[in-house]
Amino acid sequence: MQRRHLLAASAAGFALPAWSLDFAPPRAPAAMRLDVDRIIDITVGIRPFRARGPRLETQRLHGKTVVHHYGHGGSGWSLSWGSAQRALEQVRATGLRPGQRLAVVGAGAIGLTTARCAQQAGYRVTVYAKDRPPRVHSSAATGLWTPESRVVTSEFATDAWTADWEAMARDSFKVHQSYLGLPSGPVEWHDGYVVGDDGFDRPVPSPYDGEPDYPDIAPRVADLRPRGLALAGGDHPFRAPHARRFTQLVFNIPAYQRLLLDDFARDGGRLVQRELRSARDFARLPEAVVVNCTGDGARTLLGDDSLTPVRGQTARLIPQPEVDYALIYRGHSIVALPRRDGLLIATQSRQDFGSADLRPDRAQAEDAVRRLAGLF
Ligand SMILES: Cc1cc2nc3c(=O)[nH]c(=O)nc-3n(C[C@H](O)[C@H](O)[C@H](O)COP(=O)(O)OP(=O)(O)OC[C@H]3O[C@@H](n4cnc5c(N)ncnc54)[C@H](O)[C@@H]3O)c2cc1C
Repeated sequence: MQRRHLLAASAAGFALPAWSLDFAPPRAPAAMRLDVDRIIDITVGIRPFRARGPRLETQRLHGKTVVHHYGHGGSGWSLSWGSAQRALEQVRATGLRPGQRLAVVGAGAIGLTTARCAQQAGYRVTVYAKDRPPRVHSSAATGLWTPESRVVTSEFATDAWTADWEAMARDSFKVHQSYLGLPSGPVEWHDGYVVGDDGFDRPVPSPYDGEPDYPDIAPRVADLRPRGLALAGGDHPFRAPHARRFTQLVFNIPAYQRLLLDDFARDGGRLVQRELRSARDFARLPEAVVVNCTGDGARTLLGDDSLTPVRGQTARLIPQPEVDYALIYRGHSIVALPRRDGLLIATQSRQDFGSADLRPDRAQAEDAVRRLAGLF
């Protein structure tokens, strides 16, 4: 089944778990305060999409050994740890030994997790980056466990690729679980609701229309998502005829980034602000082996036209700690997430694919807030 058809039959364009009817309804959720004057920030970021999937490849470039590690689409946070482990295998294969120096270029989700994995393996790591959090695209992410989101097209999702992806997703999931229960809450589990105006068996507009066909790979990791619950009208407070409850892994992005940076520094890591203007600049780095985690930046740095930018926008409303559930408005491409740094409202539009336009669209954010408000 093509992914867009699957999504049309399931949700608003965001990944969903499978459902069942064997749970009791939860307590009534607190109402979200959805007023446009509660918007405190609007952030735009770029997903580094590659039809072939993330690039994990070692190359000799201007006298350096460069391990390319970029192109994780809408799945970078979710797949980060598993992907970093695989990049580290390529570092080891170069002959670089623990105790020696390693360069990582990029301080987004991929660069920071790669740097941490390398440190844990005993390497002395310097991160070079044009920008650091919160001025990286990773800082703009929604923060959901979505390892299948815009990560490959059906054309390139061979059996071997999918098996590798599944192993990477499982390895990554395991590390994310080790960040639960920490004071700053980098990783948490939250309940959520998918609500819709139409029955879940009816197709709805999908933000993926007009994009490539994405494979239906989510079932390969279905066991990592608790089964959901179809709710009857009286079992939820939303002004929508159809609702389902699910439970989802959430990343509090600012806390996660801060923790990764702190851990990196504590273990002796150095972060150097530096822009590489061309591939020749790899040669200027003192380290012999470099992991290139520049995300969408590789489009310009290497002239890599296998990367397609996919714009994404999130708005934050004043934090509401009493709201502890996510809300997906099916057919409207809107997700509300109870992050610690604010009530996050993520939107998608048909113009996102192929767009690197970083200008915030206030009207889009306000429209999403008003639509969600109609559910309360
Ligand atoms: C709106 C939105 C929502 C998303 N939601 C989710 C989600 O819920 N779950 C999920 O798993 N993923 C999500 N993603 C995807 C995820 O954020 C990306 O896959 C991830 O950010 C990619 O990380 P990265 O480290 O490769 O890139 P980036 O975060 O872009 O980091 C690249 C780094 O390289 C540096 N750099 C670039 N070029 C150069 C250069 N020439 N010289 C030196 N340094 C350079 C940059 O300064 C930066 O430090 C979302 C993305 C967006 C935009």
